[in-house]
Parts: sequence; structure tokens; C-alpha cells
Amino acid sequence: MELYSTNNKDLRVSFKDAVFNSMPKDKGLYMPVEIPRLDTNFIENIEEYSLPEIAYKIASTLLKDEIPAEDLKAIIEDAINFEAPAVKLDDKTFVLELFHGPSLAFKDFGARFMSRVMAYFLKDGEQLLDVLVATSGDTGGAVALGFLGVPNTRVTILYPEGKVSPIQELQLTTNGQNIRAIEVKGTFDDCQALVKQAFADDELNARFRLTSANSINISRLIPQTFYYFNTYAQLKKQGINEVIFSVPSGNFGNIGAGLLAHKLGLPVKQFIAATNINDTVPRFLASGVYETKPSTQTYSNAMDVGAPSNWVRIMNLFNEDVNELKKVITSYRFNDEETLAGIKEIDAKFNYVACPHTAIAYLAIEKYRKENPLDESAAVFLSTAHACKFPDIFPEDIAAKIEIPGQVKTLESKPKHADKLGIDFEGFKEYLMTK
Ligand SMILES: *Cc1c(COP(=O)(O)O)cnc(C)c1O
Repeated sequence: MELYSTNNKDLRVSFKDAVFNSMPKDKGLYMPVEIPRLDTNFIENIEEYSLPEIAYKIASTLLKDEIPAEDLKAIIEDAINFEAPAVKLDDKTFVLELFHGPSLAFKDFGARFMSRVMAYFLKDGEQLLDVLVATSGDTGGAVALGFLGVPNTRVTILYPEGKVSPIQELQLTTNGQNIRAIEVKGTFDDCQALVKQAFADDELNARFRLTSANSINISRLIPQTFYYFNTYAQLKKQGINEVIFSVPSGNFGNIGAGLLAHKLGLPVKQFIAATNINDTVPRFLASGVYETKPSTQTYSNAMDVGAPSNWVRIMNLFNEDVNELKKVITSYRFNDEETLAGIKEIDAKFNYVACPHTAIAYLAIEKYRKENPLDESAAVFLSTAHACKFPDIFPEDIAAKIEIPGQVKTLESKPKHADKLGIDFEGFKEYLMTK
């Protein structure tokens, strides 16, 4: 598999290079030079395959001979060791539960696959890989749990004191082994600034093999295509051939993977990009003007992104042709009041508790159906996280219905460990050099 930079189509790197460097020096994003279509026979009989089998078919088609078959199968079986059920709410409406992994969010797909691919490419005797991440909640948990126990790697997570939910904090601070957490007396932006400065520091780079395990890493995008195909397989088993996907979007990696799946040959009638009031993309599709904004805090805080980093990838998939893109993607935005109303509606109609991000994807389907009454396709909205991660959002009667998964109960009995640091870079550097 060869990749190029969205800023320079002549720049070519291997998959391994793209995995360890996340971003090209020209600040573009890596994209596959070739996106082959899966064979029609496979897609027509996809309901006969399991999630790991589907995953292997996609990964081997894209990666070609970068990783030998048996090794790639082992990586997939180890990384994707949980289900992604499309739960039927009514004849035409399904919720795709992507929260059955260890951090209870869809980011487990990307983080677990990436960590294992990185470990695979680290040759015996190579220097320890040091992963630095700043998190406002969900990413850190997925990365920590994704790398937990992965040989030859160490993860350092910075999170803002008092600004992540109790479950998120447990996921960051109870791991031990090769994971360490730093509670920073500051904001998420302060955490991110510290990490960025560390990556730019010559002394640290000379001493450690640093990597960001960033959400733009191509090895996080690829495994997210798996569940789109697997959902299609689940629906096809029930006689459904036409599907709409509604994706709660922040950095647009998840929907970007859906569009990549589409290019790989997945039959999809329409993608809906659902956002909160951080609505750079819906505004762009309405006005043709792409204007980023600083992010605003909302109930669906994992989508509080004013400058979605994967959008360039999506434009690139459509050769920058907005009219072509608009045939496949519709986009709507919803505010907090609407989000809460959506949570209540899903509860009332289906007796189902959806997290705020998920509720926004549901609202987008309702809106799409109102605007397109003739489209009778089945619609799938992606549930990106378990409701228990956002306990403060729900009215009491709905909160009472949330079942705490076993993983969380296990975490509660473990001791919390986090080192505390201020926001000065010297303190952080000293920590990295001496600990
Ligand atoms: C990260 C995240 C999103 C946004 O996904 P993108 O790929 O950044 O668009 C949505 N919901 C939850 C719960 C998340 O953690």
C-alpha cells in the first residue's frame, strides 16, 4: 500500500511510515494512492462472513502485502475482539452500537488496531515507542486501553483536572503497566500545548522515540471501515439492501471511514453528517464557504470541533468536487436543547437510552426523512459511546435506566494513579526525562 499527502500527490510513503508519522511534513494527511473495489461476489454474499472475516478482506485489499496474511489475521482477531451489533428499533431504523469495546466508545476500533499495527512494525530490539496523548476524555481512554500491555510501547496521557467524567477518569488512571496518566492543572488546550511542545523539542526527540497516536493516523481510519461493511451484512441478512448511515461527527474521521468504505464498494444510499452547533461542515454544504471557528462546548463534547481535521480527506475522496460530494452527504446540526429532546424521544419511542452524540445522529435521520418522504431506505444511526460515560446529561428517570457495563465495575475497584503537573513545559519535560 502506498500513500500520498493530500498536499502533495507526488509524495509517496509506505504504510509503515504513515503509521509512525501520522502526518506528512507538509501538514497534509495521508491517503491511499489506490482504493481498490472489493470484488462484487464478496459484497453480494457478505452476510455469510463474520466481522473478523470482513475486516480481514478489507484490510488485505487495502494493505496488499504490507503485513503477511497470518500476521494480519492475528492483529485483527486481537484488536476487534468485541461485537458491533445493529440493533433494530423498528422496521426501518437501526442503532449501530459501537461501544462494546474496553473504553465504551467507537474509538476502540481505531486505537486497538493502531496499537497492534505499531507493535507489529516495531522490530525486535527497536527502541521503546513512547506515545504522548492529550485528551479531553474519550480519545485518552481508547488509546490507554488500546495500548495496555502492548509490548515495547509506553503511553503518557495528559488530561485536564476536573474536566473529564468519572468513568473517563477511571479509564485513564487505573491501568498501570505501560500506561501513565498526568492530571494537569489546566484545560485541554494546555494539555495539547504541552504535548505539541514535547514533539517539537530536540532533546526529547533525541532521547525518545515519540509518536502521537493521533486521530488522523491512517491506521485508525482503516479499521473504522470494518463496521460499515459488517452492518450492511447484518441488514442484508434481514433482506435489506438499501441503507442510509447517520454519523455523529466531530473530526469527521468516522464518517470519513464510511466514505472510504463506499469507495471500496459498499452500497450506501446516503451518508448524513450530524453535528452539534460546531457546524463548520453543515454550513459549508449549505453556503459553499468553508470557514472554521473556535469550538463551543456542548452536551456532545466529543464533537466539539470547530476545524474538523479529517475534512480534507473527504474532499480528497471526491477530488474536491463539492457537487459530487453533495450527492452522497447531507449534513444537519442540532443544539443542546434539541439533543436533550432527542434523548427523550428515543427513550419514549423505543425505550432505548442513547448518549448525546448518538441522539444527534438519530435527530438527523428524522430530519432527513421529513425532507425526503419518498426515500424509504432503512436508516442506521451510529452510537459512538455508551450512555454511562455522560451521566450528567440525562433527566433522572432516563439516567436510572442506564446499565453500567461490567468493564466499568471492574475499574471502580482498582486504585487510581495519576501524577500531577502544572502547565509549564519545563515541568513536563523534567517529568519525561526523569520518570
Ligand atoms: C470522537 C467521538 C465522536 C466524533 O467522531 P469523529 O470521528 O471525530 O467525527 C463522536 N462521538 C463520540 C462519543 C466520540 O468519542
